[in-house]
Amino acid sequence: MVDIKSMTLEELTAWMKDQGESAFRGKQIFKWLYRGVTSFEEMTDLSKQLRQKLEETCVLVPPRVARKQVSAQDGTIKYLWELADGNCVESVLMRYQHGNTVCISSQVGCRMGCAFCASTIAGKVRDLTAAEMIDQVLFTQMDSGAPVSNIVLMGIGEPLDNFDTVLRFLTLVNSPDGLNIGMRHISLSTCGLVEQIDKLAQYELQLTLSVSLHAPDDETRSKIMPVNRHVGVERLLETCRRYFETTGRRISYEYAMIDGVNDAGWQADLLAKRLRGAPAHVNLIPLNEVEESPLKPSRRVAAFQKRLEGYGVTVTVRRKLGGDIDASCGQLRRKAMGERSLETKPNFRQKRG
Ligand code: SAH
Repeated sequence: MVDIKSMTLEELTAWMKDQGESAFRGKQIFKWLYRGVTSFEEMTDLSKQLRQKLEETCVLVPPRVARKQVSAQDGTIKYLWELADGNCVESVLMRYQHGNTVCISSQVGCRMGCAFCASTIAGKVRDLTAAEMIDQVLFTQMDSGAPVSNIVLMGIGEPLDNFDTVLRFLTLVNSPDGLNIGMRHISLSTCGLVEQIDKLAQYELQLTLSVSLHAPDDETRSKIMPVNRHVGVERLLETCRRYFETTGRRISYEYAMIDGVNDAGWQADLLAKRLRGAPAHVNLIPLNEVEESPLKPSRRVAAFQKRLEGYGVTVTVRRKLGGDIDASCGQLRRKAMGERSLETKPNFRQKRG
């Protein structure tokens, strides 16, 4: 079956020509897909015959809202989507002054193993397709009625571990006949896969690269982020400097504040020292507690911020949205997975009995 929604406009046009159809059919179909139609039947300016053919050869299964949580505090909406194969991923709609932002997932689960993150607990199940990433934006927009102007790739998964598909997704998002969202309105967050960062730099995209640093010293970073055991902080920051030199885009460093782990004064000093030499922005994130993890939020966020600012580092503290719903990514999926395994247990017992 053809994954028609993962195709670029050029590919779709070429494919239509191969099928003996006129080239502009490609554009017509592409536009329908981004209007969020859920069947080929709805593509009313195509012949019945072509619609029938598409129905038989292509997949077009919209994600189903498996759960939805709306924050009473700030209107943040968290979606748990069920995909065609029954797997689930999360997206979050956040309402900011500068526009509505949707945070999307790039994989089902994650294999990076960060100690503080709920998404990685059960490992990676599979990569998402470009269509499944597009659908998170499209259907969040359609379900909520809120037009989305910004996208952050900060949900479940490691985007640079699904590199080619994420690039395809960015092309689709950027397309004037697609979502038409500019690169400057997109942020991509990575745990720091250096070879892929170098590869991404070659495309010179105008998106914002966020690097999840979380510690300035190898001992701490390797403890909480296994990815650091292969490539230390120094090589990561060298790669980031190179990225800036190639793209001219300032890197944003994420730093989740964990009590007694990465919030000491000396770590602020070392962080400031190591970030010297290229423009940087540090985003301090109050840790979201994860049930399965013993790590606790830091009580020293303000002091850490002040200490960094003392060195002239640009620092912001991430505002916590959706505090009354399962805020951090991966938690809703884990909860649903737990409940589903409870639901299936009686069946197993019945079968055995
Ligand atoms: N894999 C990518 C993107 C997904 S996570 C990455 O590692 O960057 C998006 C951000 O949320 C990352 O900075 C991640 O480290 C952070 N994060 C994960 N779990 C968190 C938690 N419990 N509290 C605060 N931030 C968390």
